[in-house]
Parts: sequence; structure tokens; C-alpha cells
Amino acid sequence: MSGTRAWHLASRPSGLPDMTNFELKEVELEPLGEGTVRVENRWLSVDPYMRGRMNDTKSYVPPFEIGAPLQGGAVGKVVESSSPDLAVGDTVFHTMGWREQAVGEAKHFTKVPAMGVPDEQWLGNLGLTGATAYFGLLRVAEAKEGDIVFVSAAAGAVGSAVVQIAKAKGMTVIGSAGGAEKCAWVRELGANAAIDYKAGPVVKQLMEAAPKGIDVYFDNVGGDHLDAAFACARNQARFAICGMIEDYNTGSNHAFRYIMRMIAARIRMQGFLYFDFLSDMPDFYRDMGGWIASGKVKSRETVREGIEAAPQAFLDLFSGANMGKMLVKL
Ligand code: NDP
Repeated sequence: MSGTRAWHLASRPSGLPDMTNFELKEVELEPLGEGTVRVENRWLSVDPYMRGRMNDTKSYVPPFEIGAPLQGGAVGKVVESSSPDLAVGDTVFHTMGWREQAVGEAKHFTKVPAMGVPDEQWLGNLGLTGATAYFGLLRVAEAKEGDIVFVSAAAGAVGSAVVQIAKAKGMTVIGSAGGAEKCAWVRELGANAAIDYKAGPVVKQLMEAAPKGIDVYFDNVGGDHLDAAFACARNQARFAICGMIEDYNTGSNHAFRYIMRMIAARIRMQGFLYFDFLSDMPDFYRDMGGWIASGKVKSRETVREGIEAAPQAFLDLFSGANMGKMLVKL
């Protein structure tokens, strides 16, 4: 047996997690059984939804267990295989992140499609966050050419993909992000306007940026952003509710001032999970692959180095330290 290091949940956080909730421990790797593989992880993803899995509550994914290794998206190379389906040297993505090496049945690892993109993009624009942007915008909100789209956390992984997909499809885009540097990047990505939500009330800034109102809101934040979208929605507006990061550490206690506009404007609002659309991934790979190849969608990562950096990279999502996708490189 050989050893490897993995981050474990040491205790359940209350409010914003801190380093005491995590523990890096050596774990023994069993010798490979029939049909299993050993993968050396190269890239780990940290994602806001992992905060929800740290609570002991029933949700769409089971909670992380105290004392067990954390899980999350990862890309790695097969270094040992006893399966006919995967060979040593194959690059795979899977969900046994937060650790240096992963061992499991080959069916839990997916060989990356041969598209000639850097490996880390399978955790970003060609991975979970890109697919979330694509399906949320085009299938859930049914956004189409000519629509005016508002997206929050627009300088993050999902948000920056939403901005670029919407522009590729001929929409007008208003993005919101925290700070002037992020807003400048959102404009660089093609957004027609960018709102710095830290510089003043979102509702006032959105009314100025979208004097004709909005047709689509892609929500990554909740709270004041969602309220501003209610205030500015045009008739038959569609809201894709992707995430509400503002409340992940606090629980929701927001009072919506403008929610009644749902009635007069006939707003349709729908929550979604990216895996509702897994059967349509070929459409996503075709379109996103094409936009990446043509330069219409660009990828940006904020990269932290080494397994030790993983918890802080995760915590930093809640203070907005990332531009584009937050990743850990091993
Ligand atoms: P991001 O890369 O967008 O990182 C999170 C960003 O959220 C930060 O960079 C920060 O940007 C912003 N943020 C953090 N706290 C606040 C706050 N209190 N108010 C406003 N903004 C805040 O993460 P992802 O792209 O991975 O995820 C974006 C959203 O999408 C999350 O809500 C996530 O849970 C959700 N999601 C949902 C999925 C689904 O299937 N429904 C799948 C994947 C993600 P800034 O500096 O601009 O504040």
C-alpha cells in the first residue's frame, strides 16, 4: 500500500468556514482491484456549492462527512490501470478532488474528449461552470438574440461564460461584479455595461445601465441583485436562478422590495442544476468548443499552487479573490 494526502472535513462550519474546518491527512491507497484505476490529480476545482455540502442538511447532493475526504471536480492522469477502459497516460475528469491521488472504478472517471484544449478548461469553460452557464442561459432562461441580459458575479467562472455566450448569440449584456478591475474585465469580455455593486445600490445602477429594462436575469448572487432584477424586468422576463452566494454563509433573510413585479411583468423564474442537462452535453461541447476555437469565448483562471492551498482557495471565493475560474494546480 502507498500513501497520499487528502483534505478532510474536520468540523462543520457555522457561517463563513475557516481553516479549522479542514485537515490535510495522509491516507493509504489500497492496491488496485479488477476494473479500477489510480489517477494522479493535476488540477482541483473549488466551487461555492461545496459550502452547502459542509452543512448536515438534506439537499441534491449528500453532505460531506466529518473525518472523510472532501470531494470535488478534478482533472488528472491515469498512472495505473487494471481496467480495459482506461490506459496509463489518459487524461480524465472526475469528482474525487481535494486529494493528490484518486483510486476508484474506471466508470467514475471520464476520459477528456480530444479537443486540444488545456487540461484545466475541463473544470472551467468546458466543464461544470461552462455547462451551467450554457444550459442556464439558453435552456432555462431561453435567452435569444436581441434580449437584454443581466448577469451577477459576471467576473466569476459561470458569470464570465454567461457574458461571452450571450454576446456570441447577439444579446445585449449587463454584468455585475465587485470592484473596478473586475468590471473592466467584464467589459473586455464584451459586456455592453458593467455594474460595480460595491460602489452603490444595484437597483439604481441597473436602472441606469438598462433604461429599457431586462429580458433575462442570470442569478449567481441572490439578495439585492435579484431584487434589482425584479425592479427592472420587462414583460415576460425570464430569470434563471443558478446560485445565491450572498446567502451561502448566512442563510437567507433578505426582504424583497420589488418581488411583486413578478405579477405585472409576468416574470418566469426557474431554479436549475447543471446536471439536469447531462444528456445534452454533446450540444454543449459542439457550441462551446466552436466558440473557444474561434476566440469568441476566452478562458481565465485564478490559480493557486499545491494541495496545501485548496481550503484557502475555496474560502477566497467568498471574498471574490478570483477572476474567472478558481483552481488549484498540483
Ligand atoms: P465564481 O467564480 O463566480 O466565484 C464566486 C464569486 O461570487 C466571487 O468571485 C465573488 O465575485 C462573488 N461573490 C462572493 N460573495 C458575494 C456576495 N456576498 N455578494 C455578491 N457577490 C459575491 O463561482 P462559480 O462561477 O463557480 O459559481 C457562481 C454561482 O453559480 C454560485 O452561486 C454557485 O453556487 C452557482 N453554481 C450553480 C450551479 C448549478 O448547477 N445551479 C453549478 C455551478 C455553480 P465579486 O468579487 O464580483 O463579488
